[in-house]
Amino acid sequence: MKKALLFFAHLFGFEKLNDYEKGYLHDANIRSSCYMGVIVVLLEIWMLVRQTHFKIIPKYQAGGDFFQLLVKYTSKYWLFLLIGLGIMLFCLFQKKKTLSKGRFLSLMIVGVLCILYTAVITLETFIKPNDSITPVMAGIMNAMLITIYVLLFAIGVTIVSYALVRYLKKKNAAVFEHLAIILFTLVCLAFGIYVSYSDFWDGKQIICYLTMVIYVGCLLIYRPYITILILVASFGSFYGILLTFQNGMTFHSQEVMISGVLETYISGDSVNYVTFLISLATICFAIYHGRLNEARKSKALEKSAEEDSLTGMKNYNYFVDLAIEEVANLPEPISEHVFLFLDVHNFKAFNDQRGFEAGDTFLITVGGYITEIFHDSLCARQADDHFTVLTKTQDLQERLDKLNRLVHAYDPDILMGINCGGYHLTNQKEDPRMAIDRARYAAHTIKDRFQTIYAEYDKKMSEAFRKRLYIINNIDNAVQNGWIVPFYQPVVWSDSEKLCGCEALARWIDPTYGLLAPYEFIPVLEEYRLIHKLDKSIFTSVCKDLRAAMDAGKPVFPVSLNFSRLDFELMDAVQELENLVVYYRIPKELIHVEVTESALTDNFVYLNTAINRIKELGYSLWLDDFGSGYSSLNVLKDYQFDVIKIDMRFLSNLESNEKARTLIDCIIHMANRIDMLTLTEGVETAAQAKFLNQLGCNRLQGYLFGKPIAKNDLYKRIQNGELVVSENLIGK
Ligand code: C2E
Ligand code: MG
Ligand code: MG
Repeated sequence: MKKALLFFAHLFGFEKLNDYEKGYLHDANIRSSCYMGVIVVLLEIWMLVRQTHFKIIPKYQAGGDFFQLLVKYTSKYWLFLLIGLGIMLFCLFQKKKTLSKGRFLSLMIVGVLCILYTAVITLETFIKPNDSITPVMAGIMNAMLITIYVLLFAIGVTIVSYALVRYLKKKNAAVFEHLAIILFTLVCLAFGIYVSYSDFWDGKQIICYLTMVIYVGCLLIYRPYITILILVASFGSFYGILLTFQNGMTFHSQEVMISGVLETYISGDSVNYVTFLISLATICFAIYHGRLNEARKSKALEKSAEEDSLTGMKNYNYFVDLAIEEVANLPEPISEHVFLFLDVHNFKAFNDQRGFEAGDTFLITVGGYITEIFHDSLCARQADDHFTVLTKTQDLQERLDKLNRLVHAYDPDILMGINCGGYHLTNQKEDPRMAIDRARYAAHTIKDRFQTIYAEYDKKMSEAFRKRLYIINNIDNAVQNGWIVPFYQPVVWSDSEKLCGCEALARWIDPTYGLLAPYEFIPVLEEYRLIHKLDKSIFTSVCKDLRAAMDAGKPVFPVSLNFSRLDFELMDAVQELENLVVYYRIPKELIHVEVTESALTDNFVYLNTAINRIKELGYSLWLDDFGSGYSSLNVLKDYQFDVIKIDMRFLSNLESNEKARTLIDCIIHMANRIDMLTLTEGVETAAQAKFLNQLGCNRLQGYLFGKPIAKNDLYKRIQNGELVVSENLIGK
């Protein structure tokens, strides 16, 4: 029983709809009204042309007064034209976020004209009884006319009120939206009845009424029970009006004056009318339920476009859309509102140690913390372990402290916490993406300071930030104009200290900023996934330099190229290198590929494939910055490197730190045992060099033997004997 009741409630549309579904149906009605507005406008223009051509011009040529004729024959059509235009504009502007001055004015003008015009022509068009129109019939016609005029007047008032409310930015304009559509529905029905009544009286079909009923039933979607009520009421009233003929009315046209015909017409057709009504009601059911399904599907789609699939928070794009709207409507002082960029400190370590699944669960939990702590603010997950918030500065520090405590307590064995940057708004047109970028930059400045959890973007950062933007925006220029060049840092054999190779290190020689060092552009380019452009350019320059040196008969030696982890993701890095090497005819042993250990901890299949391919193609594979990360030994186990580059941090307190000396010793021995050679980076003193040589480290690199310098300077140093190229360039 309950099921049956629920079924009928659903069928007739008594069920509760959510705001989205209501909005969806309402939007469909707005669209239909807009189309109908266009149709009305076109129809009325046609009517105006017809009236002018068939009535006004002939009568004017016969000596009539043009303006009188115009008023007499076109008043009604002007009014409907205005109303059609009004409804069309009204519906068109509804979806616009703001009502600009132009839109406001056009709505006001059309609305006011509708009001004035209705008031004036109501008096003009009253029907007076005459030979063919009985007083009762004139009374009915006038009553229907008044109904239509009242409704039209109300539409004019609604349009004007709506325009005013929207323009003054008061939020309760929705009531006018509904009102206008309801009024429009009623006008259509009343108009249909009025026109068809006189058509019927002229012995014609009631086409106009049927068209209007179809429009109301099929295009304007109300809940089925409302539609059925409207249709039954309108059919009832029309039928009732038609029946008045039977009670002694006369027909305008002689042919259908016989009351028998009238009887047959009305009662015979009543079966057709009822059938039509039932069919229409069925169609309304189908359309309503179809629309509702569409709404539900579209909501599900929209949700996936708005939601972050992991945490269920808003996704970044949706956040930006909402933020634009919110910022535009923020109350003063606007600087009390701040965009936050939140990053989880050490999340990578957590992910590596606890696995991806635990990492996902952690991110969901952090998303929950943020949503709860910033419950009154706009929050979203940007990507990875990055979150964004638009909030007030009030209580900010306490909220961040709380969040930090929660994140820290999640897994006390791994030192996690939050790293947050903030950017204060300065005006209502601020672009949220730019604001978040600045907040992100501020967060970035305290990345290595675990104790500090919050940094605010300030004037000082602004210059550095501008430089970052400059780098991002100019990487293509830099590549094309040759602003990016490789500098070469010597690598020597530790026993002979003779040159056995060089490392190519990128420098950006900028026309505005001068010489930029890698720490200024490499992290930015990696962050914005543009690093492959730089690396490709360095690979090309190195191959060109080698080719030029070979052609000029100068000494050549192997060059190490730094590969970023992202190179493997953003381009087919190995193939790019191979193409260049083939094109410039460079012997493979002259190219060493350096990959940092942190690049290899991600364990993606494509990384494995790429690394193996480097070896297969015959390049020497070097592990850069060994010991600077935390899973180096795994990396050694999984990949076959030719050379391990020991991170320069091991050398920083070599003299005073016994442990550091022992560690280096162990690393060198371990490397030898697994068939790998060693190079120590950052050698600055002769004592360090001697010590490393004694331990059996094969190669050395550092300021002691030379800083990175331009190609020509390097050859000058070779020419004047400061650097001696070893006869053995390949290895021991
Ligand atoms: P890296 O590959 O470990 O390069 C060694 C860095 O240590 C270089 O810094 C070098 O100038 C510096 N260095 C060498 N000897 C000494 C020394 O005795 N003392 C000190 N204090 N520093 C020394 P640079 O050129 O600033 O490069 C920094 C990092 O930027 C590089 O570290 C590398 O990871 C990255 N990088 C540089 N060029 C490129 C490139 O073309 N592509 C990619 N993907 N990364 C690059
Ligand atoms: Mg390197
Ligand atoms: Mg290194």
